[in-house]
Amino acid sequence: MKEISKGLILPRSETADEFHIVLKMPIGYNIGIAAEKIRDVKIFGRKEAHYKIPEKDFPYDPKKPNVKLLGTGGTIASRLDYRTGAVIPAFSPGELYGSVPELADICNLDTEKLYGVFSENMGPEQWIGLAEAIGREIEKGVQGIVIGHGTDTMHHTAAILSFMVQDSPVPIVMVGSQRSSDRPSSDAALNLIHSVTTAAISDIAEVMVCMFGPTSDMYGLLHRGTRVRKMHSSYRSTFRTIGDIPIATVSRDKVTPIRDDYKRRRFDNDVKVNAVFDDRVAIVYYYPNMKPDMIDSLIDNGYKGIVIAGTGLGHVNKPLYPALKRAKEKGVAVYMTVQTLWGYVQMYVYDTGEI
Ligand code: ASP
Repeated sequence: MKEISKGLILPRSETADEFHIVLKMPIGYNIGIAAEKIRDVKIFGRKEAHYKIPEKDFPYDPKKPNVKLLGTGGTIASRLDYRTGAVIPAFSPGELYGSVPELADICNLDTEKLYGVFSENMGPEQWIGLAEAIGREIEKGVQGIVIGHGTDTMHHTAAILSFMVQDSPVPIVMVGSQRSSDRPSSDAALNLIHSVTTAAISDIAEVMVCMFGPTSDMYGLLHRGTRVRKMHSSYRSTFRTIGDIPIATVSRDKVTPIRDDYKRRRFDNDVKVNAVFDDRVAIVYYYPNMKPDMIDSLIDNGYKGIVIAGTGLGHVNKPLYPALKRAKEKGVAVYMTVQTLWGYVQMYVYDTGEI
């Protein structure tokens, strides 16, 4: 079948293969086309790519709180990448001020690009580096920390930091964006304004995720780091607190708590950073007819812990029982959670819960 596609051919990014071209369609979406399927190309014009983000000096006001933005990567860290294929971090204070001038009304912002990775590439090295950087900044006396992160695994990092950074005196706010800032529907600027506002003025000294609340841009939600999850691949309002309510809502100039049991801001620089991580723990998503060799291979490969996401109240099929028994005997810690996401494990309601 002959198909005609019209659009802008984007420069190929460093990591893309040479078998495809990427075309930006007039509606704004990009499509990939296998190069070998292209029969003919008609050129109607050329466009030059401008990679530079306008920089403006971020003003300093001694009366405003000092906030540190630590960048790890993800869509929020990239401007123009969907259009040009190049990932351009907008991270110096000048670049951020050039893109979102409202930030200067809130605080004095200092930035540091720790990493430049999409969030599927976050791992122990980055989590430990991030926790240590947070500790350093708190000891230096910042009033709040914002962490720019890809949204896909932001909830993993939020949970990890909640354990690695204990008793923070200041807010630690993770933020990302579902749509890059070159798109008209981008959530990058508003999420940044909300997260920087939270870091600067809120009295919630916890690790939080700050992203769109409703589908509109009315307010953002602040989710507790151990309770939050990405729930939609493309909605901007994708983050939800699971099995509980969020800590607060945030608008352009106000943070409104919706619960009272959060840790309050303190005016000291004391924080405990315990940046350790054991990666010999696996999460196993149970599916009907799962074979015991999945569990056996984890035991044989020296895993120390297995978390099973079981069906319903926390179940797996009978053929897995001997392998789970063996895991227990070998000293592997085996835990059950539910794949329903809402609700709790209750393994003893049915006798299948006991091994
Ligand atoms: N794949 C990206 C990431 O998680 C998506 C995003 O930034 O939202 O790094």
